[in-house]
Amino acid sequence: MLKAVRSVVGQDFIVIYRISSIDLVDGGLTGRKSWPRRAPPRPRAPASSIKASAGTKHASRPSPRRCREQPGPCRPPPERGRFHSGDCLQPHQHARGCRTHIGVGRCRSRVDGTPWLADPDFIAKTRAGARQAINVCIACNQACLDYIFSNRVTTCLVNPRAGREVDLDRPLPAVKKRVAVVGAGPAGLSCALTAAERGHAVTLFEAGERIGGQLNLARNVAGKEEFDETLRYYAIRLAQAGVDVRLSAKAAASDLAHGFDEVVVATGARPRVPDIAGIDHAKCVSYADLLSGKRQAGQQVVIIGAGGIGFDVAEYLLQAGNADDDARDAFLSHWGVEAGMTHRGALTKAADHAPPRKITMLQRKAGRMGRSLGVSTGWILRLELARANVKQISGVAYERIDDAGVHITVDGAQRTIPADTVVIAAGQDEERSLYADLAAAGRSCHLIGGAERSAELDAVRAIDEGLRLALTF
Ligand code: NAP
Ligand code: SF4
Repeated sequence: MLKAVRSVVGQDFIVIYRISSIDLVDGGLTGRKSWPRRAPPRPRAPASSIKASAGTKHASRPSPRRCREQPGPCRPPPERGRFHSGDCLQPHQHARGCRTHIGVGRCRSRVDGTPWLADPDFIAKTRAGARQAINVCIACNQACLDYIFSNRVTTCLVNPRAGREVDLDRPLPAVKKRVAVVGAGPAGLSCALTAAERGHAVTLFEAGERIGGQLNLARNVAGKEEFDETLRYYAIRLAQAGVDVRLSAKAAASDLAHGFDEVVVATGARPRVPDIAGIDHAKCVSYADLLSGKRQAGQQVVIIGAGGIGFDVAEYLLQAGNADDDARDAFLSHWGVEAGMTHRGALTKAADHAPPRKITMLQRKAGRMGRSLGVSTGWILRLELARANVKQISGVAYERIDDAGVHITVDGAQRTIPADTVVIAAGQDEERSLYADLAAAGRSCHLIGGAERSAELDAVRAIDEGLRLALTF
């Protein structure tokens, strides 16, 4: 096939041969079986280079997202050292001579690889020695693969301009404004940076001690540590763009009354406190207090709410105290990927782990939990939780919380789920107190992110909203 392609396109055309080095499917390809016996590339070879990937859409093991050490659970066999996983930045020799071909995929990598979706200026910034200013792909899949799988135009969580470069191309404003942004969560960060990049004088007020808002909670969940990269990027770019960042500065309406042409309220959302008898019991903990490390969980945990954050909490509780879980060998054994690649598909029996605690998740809706999780990553989380015997009970009515645990009714029958900790992950409410004060004072302002609408809020929407608003200034 390669020879036929080469004969049509001629010698000067780059032909890349892409192969799944291990596809992680029962009975599928393995590394050794799938690698060509003789090692191209070589002069006049049919393929200019080889791109070796791992896993497929149908793989029963996760590939890039969960493994910190390697960008995929596979690495090339040592004797084929020139071939690398196609999902990371690696040089390949071009077929004719010594020119270098760099392939960049979407996942994180220890070689500072970052994909074009997250930062199209990657090469320019690298050349200029400004690597710290690169916006790094955080391997979330949320706005690239998940959008593809749901027939939406691919974009990027950390770079909403991706895929909409023409639509979001706005001329720089003739008039420079003084802009106040209140709240340095993802929406506020995105708005402040974009406004400053457009030449406005921006002041960013943040009540907390650091920028990031709820990203500071998400980064504590296994698999989401890469949000640190996003925070690093914003810290550096805000400084470069001259944004006046004021931390531990809770802006009041009076601070914003004068001196600003535009005021943006990006004060985010706060954990919802559901109306359940006993919700103020000492064993009740908000997801925010848990994920920030302010409160600890015991051995028998009930989670109230099974949205994205309820699942994050369950995962956090399973990972807590198991810091090595992301290391490469632990990853392979945990997921049953055979490092020697002698079995077909490179699958082996996954190691059994005793879960660190007993967890039960509850929701009022009937039906399967986790429907809102990402298409390409939700199955991993569901599988992890099932392996750790996390119980999931849908269709519950909450009766009360007391010393014994959480009392519920399911299908007309009363039950008590014993718990020493009850984590409340029952959604969020908009934090609009500043907005109300500004409205009362007659000060016009813009509302974005979780403060505008907390339902179905995620970082994709927050960052996108911040950018779009700033483009109107
Ligand atoms: P959410 O997805 O809306 O889930 C809220 C959960 O709380 C639901 O299970 C809901 O189920 C329950 N709930 C709502 N009101 C309640 C009440 N008054 N009493 C008891 N239970 C109540 O919100 P979230 O989990 O806070 O997540 C916020 C946003 O972040 C979501 O849009 C989510 O998609 C996003 N997020 C996404 C991910 C991801 O994996 N991509 C991770 C984290 C967060 P019932 O009403 O049926 O009880
Ligand atoms: Fe990377 Fe997430 Fe952007 Fe996809 S959406 S390119 S995984 S940061």
